[in-house]
Amino acid sequence: MQFGMSEEQAMIVETTRAFVEKELYPHELEIERTGHLDMEVIKDIQAKAMQAGLYAANMPEEVGGAGLDTLTWLMYEKELGRANYALHWTGVARPSNILLAGTDEQKEKYLFPCMKGEKWDCLAMTEPDAGSDLRGMKASARQDGDDWILNGTKHFISHADIADFAICFMATGVEETPRGPKKKITAFFVDKGTPGFEVRDGYGNVSHRGYTNAVLEFDDCRLPSSAILGEVDKGFDVANTWLGATRLQVAATCLGRAERALQHSVEYAVERKQFGQQIGKFQGISFKLADMALELKAANLLTWEAGWKFDQGTVTESDMSMAKLKATEMLAMVADEAIQIHGGMGLMDELPLERIWRDARVERIWEGTSEIQRHIISREMLRALGG
Ligand SMILES: Cc1cc2nc3c(=O)[nH]c(=O)nc-3n(C[C@H](O)[C@H](O)[C@H](O)COP(=O)(O)OP(=O)(O)OC[C@H]3O[C@@H](n4cnc5c(N)ncnc54)[C@H](O)[C@@H]3O)c2cc1C
Repeated sequence: MQFGMSEEQAMIVETTRAFVEKELYPHELEIERTGHLDMEVIKDIQAKAMQAGLYAANMPEEVGGAGLDTLTWLMYEKELGRANYALHWTGVARPSNILLAGTDEQKEKYLFPCMKGEKWDCLAMTEPDAGSDLRGMKASARQDGDDWILNGTKHFISHADIADFAICFMATGVEETPRGPKKKITAFFVDKGTPGFEVRDGYGNVSHRGYTNAVLEFDDCRLPSSAILGEVDKGFDVANTWLGATRLQVAATCLGRAERALQHSVEYAVERKQFGQQIGKFQGISFKLADMALELKAANLLTWEAGWKFDQGTVTESDMSMAKLKATEMLAMVADEAIQIHGGMGLMDELPLERIWRDARVERIWEGTSEIQRHIISREMLRALGG
């Protein structure tokens, strides 16, 4: 067992952190106050991230990425996660791995432009009536000769405003299984501007200012068969193969933000004096710091272990769910305690803490809610005994 970083990992962490602090932090306050991230700012960060070799670093070298293994990629995600989400998602984009599942033509059209910062992707599964229960989706695609006709609504779709295309999961039939009827799902590439495809503004959201979610409407949207990603009726197979580590990405970004909040808290506990002494001398504050550090370390170990196992090919669904669950719940606790340690100042937007606290909320919901992660963890134990 080896817990140290390799030289290469230490270098990637250091480079990414320096980039985040120099290029992303200075834009945060403006985005928090206006709720808006300028395309000019995005383009500027994009160019610098490409020059630093940090853009789309999640991808294999053969398609122009950095070829990081999963564990190292998560270390890089942790550093990006320190900063405002909209800034690092758009400026230091990590195109979805699912683009690697495309045909050569699809890679030319979608993957390579994303690698060059010319296009952004978004993924559309969730619907107003189908969230955790994705198989309950109603949006559908029916075959018409060589074409497919898409109808229905997706909502909560992240980044659809700036994305050039969406990878949309649609119901394409029903199959009988021993557990009852099950929807068959197919994934489609849908370009912005395709007739019958409309992207509407989504909802205002407490977390991650500068980033938006959207509603996608399909009204007899006609697509050729070449728009199918993977095989017909095998949309979830493609998703399971290529999106497996997304839960770990969420976990890693939470670690970065929690570390930032803890660092502020330790510094403040030393700087701030009340009743003639540093507040860190009060057990009421020092024990909070101890608990925050403990929870952060536990989440970090779970995340790194799952990433390491991912690279060994031994990771389980439960490993990834534990990492996501622990890291997201840890961040909520750490962000809340960080504010408590700072007293009133913790709530002021001069510091990043009120933002980290707000941003923490969505992490327990997207990429599978905490309840769904607990369901996955317990299911693995129960199934082993025939449950
Ligand atoms: C800001 C934001 C951005 C998002 N971006 C995207 C995106 O880009 N693409 C996309 O496809 N989706 C996206 N989502 C959707 C996200 O993945 C869903 O919100 C999430 O899966 C939960 O679905 P729901 O919100 O419909 O809640 P529901 O599934 O309706 O859940 C409601 C409550 O019931 C609980 N619950 C449901 N089923 C069970 C169960 N079996 N056992 C125990 N408890 C259960 C849930 O945990 C939750 O507490 C985004 C969501 C948000 C908030």
